[in-house]
Amino acid sequence: MNFIESFYPLLNDPKETVITMHQKPDGDAMGSALGLYHFLKLLGHDTTIISPTNWANFLNWMPGCEHVLNYESDKQYADNLIHKAKRIFCLDFNVLHRTKTMEEALLNATATKILIDHHEQPQTEVFDYGISQTEKSSTCEMIYDFICGSGNKKKIDLNIATCLYTGMMTDTGSFRFPNTTASVHLAIAYFKEIGLDHSAIHQNIYDTNTEDKLHLIGNSILNRLEVLYDYNTSLMVIPKSDLLKYYAKTGDTEGLVQYLLSIENIKFGALVIDRDEERKWSFRSKGNFDVNQFARKHFNGGGHKNAAGGNTKDSLEQTVKKFKAILLDYQSALK
Ligand code: 5GP
Ligand code: MN
Repeated sequence: MNFIESFYPLLNDPKETVITMHQKPDGDAMGSALGLYHFLKLLGHDTTIISPTNWANFLNWMPGCEHVLNYESDKQYADNLIHKAKRIFCLDFNVLHRTKTMEEALLNATATKILIDHHEQPQTEVFDYGISQTEKSSTCEMIYDFICGSGNKKKIDLNIATCLYTGMMTDTGSFRFPNTTASVHLAIAYFKEIGLDHSAIHQNIYDTNTEDKLHLIGNSILNRLEVLYDYNTSLMVIPKSDLLKYYAKTGDTEGLVQYLLSIENIKFGALVIDRDEERKWSFRSKGNFDVNQFARKHFNGGGHKNAAGGNTKDSLEQTVKKFKAILLDYQSALK
């Protein structure tokens, strides 16, 4: 993988470009893809965003989101675009299998592949150019650096600023996680100078819950939460019947995991959701407990030190049993 700086001159040579991100894109994945999309369009690149799957409705207000393709529902058209593309940007994921069924098309594509990401242990061998900075708050912050580093800071307009702010906000837990560095605030100071309406973005993301979603959250806290005080750990297990009962849509379970860490003295929060195709784990921690290593070692996953995820084909009961058995080995680390 060549340094990202050696890609900068190619920005002056517009080409057919595809941007993609991890499946079920969150604010950072969608924000970075859209921020880069608006930037490349300004430079004259013929650019399309392909999301590997659908995404939460609360992202739909983002400028340009109406142009994003869903690979699962538009596979043939998207495959053709990937095949014809000269460049493919891969944002906010470290390994190609995080694009699910799109992985094969990406592997077979002849396009120049560029990685911009902040997850641990990236699969660098499949990319031609790229940058992996695990200390960065968000991929959105890295897109800001990419634009500025290539000498194009003055090109940042309100569309770009709005998209990039969204991912910085969501990946820092609204600027409270330790990854909220001075560079995050400096970038946002610049966005404010050009007229960013940050308050509207917070409302669009956080104040657009449905009644069903609130009922799902309420039920999860009341009936699906277990606090394992001996391990300073909280566990939430969401069966499929709850998702059906509360008509859960993509994104409705996002944010549930935060409640786990909000409990006094809890250092490790684990949420598992019974999805159709897999059991999906979300792990969060405070301080030194490394959930990236934990997810990688036991649940086929990864992410960051304090926020990671994983998945398994085991049944819900089996995977919860396994989790509790593993926890025994971590009792001293969690003290
Ligand atoms: P979440 O719990 O919000 O789904 O994910 C937390 C963090 O871990 C995110 O940065 C996400 O990209 C990453 N992550 C989630 N699931 C997986 C997974 O199955 N594999 C890997 N490598 N990373 C994951
Ligand atoms: Mn991210």
